[in-house]
Amino acid sequence: MLQPRCQRTIAEKVSCSGVGLHGGHAVQITLRPERPGRGIVFQRRFAGELIEIPAHAECVVSTDHATSIAVGDARIATVEHLLASLYAMQIDNVVVEVDGDELPVLDGSARGFVDLIDEAGAYEQDAVCDVHAVCEPIEIVEGNRRIRIDPAPVLRISYAIDFDHSSIGRQTFEIEALDRAAFERDVAAARTFGFLEDVEALWRVGLARGGSLANTLVLDAEGVVNEEGLRFPDEFVRHKVLDLIGDLALLGMPLCGHVSVERGGHALHQRLVRRLRLEAAG
Ligand SMILES: [Zn+2]
Repeated sequence: MLQPRCQRTIAEKVSCSGVGLHGGHAVQITLRPERPGRGIVFQRRFAGELIEIPAHAECVVSTDHATSIAVGDARIATVEHLLASLYAMQIDNVVVEVDGDELPVLDGSARGFVDLIDEAGAYEQDAVCDVHAVCEPIEIVEGNRRIRIDPAPVLRISYAIDFDHSSIGRQTFEIEALDRAAFERDVAAARTFGFLEDVEALWRVGLARGGSLANTLVLDAEGVVNEEGLRFPDEFVRHKVLDLIGDLALLGMPLCGHVSVERGGHALHQRLVRRLRLEAAG
């Protein structure tokens, strides 16, 4: 089993800025240390009030192309890459102030968030960190998509994707035991990807306005459009693993279990997380 550990927060306040992937507006985020037991809490000013949005599955309001959370009409989109980084770097308590409705996309990966959390430093707090260890398997099937969790002594991830595109095809990726080193080495740098035809359709409906070759791996019928090519031969499935970790972080505590996913996405990930939240509460 995961060794019991103390809760952790960041050592000092840090900020970064960039454009949001969908709105395309400049946005700044500031991470502040937070006391034990508070978890990860987003804050934004909305209609003259400071609104707090806890990073919990119950606050998820959309899983369309990104995971968005909200309280009332105050919404924050694309929280998954920051949440994945906080989870892997064992930051349990932090306030994330956002001066817009979306997190910056940075280079489309989690690398910039890892650097930011690194810059802040971290320390252990005087409180034990609860862990949710699954005892019974849970499986959710939607047509040819599937997500499953089985008991395991650590967080293990097995992911498979299957795209009818010559640059992707079937890719599988496995993390035996998720820790900071595995996250930084194997997952953090994998970028968001999209197909040129879909990107054009998204632009028409006002999404992906901040999307560019600087923050999205774009594929056309022939292959990868980005001049610099891929960061890993299987960068696509690695990015799916990054998204999964960010979605699992919405459980609100570290997870012990073997999560296996076939053709997953944010919506399927969240169905599992909601089940786990109920289990953890009960
Ligand atoms: Zn992503």
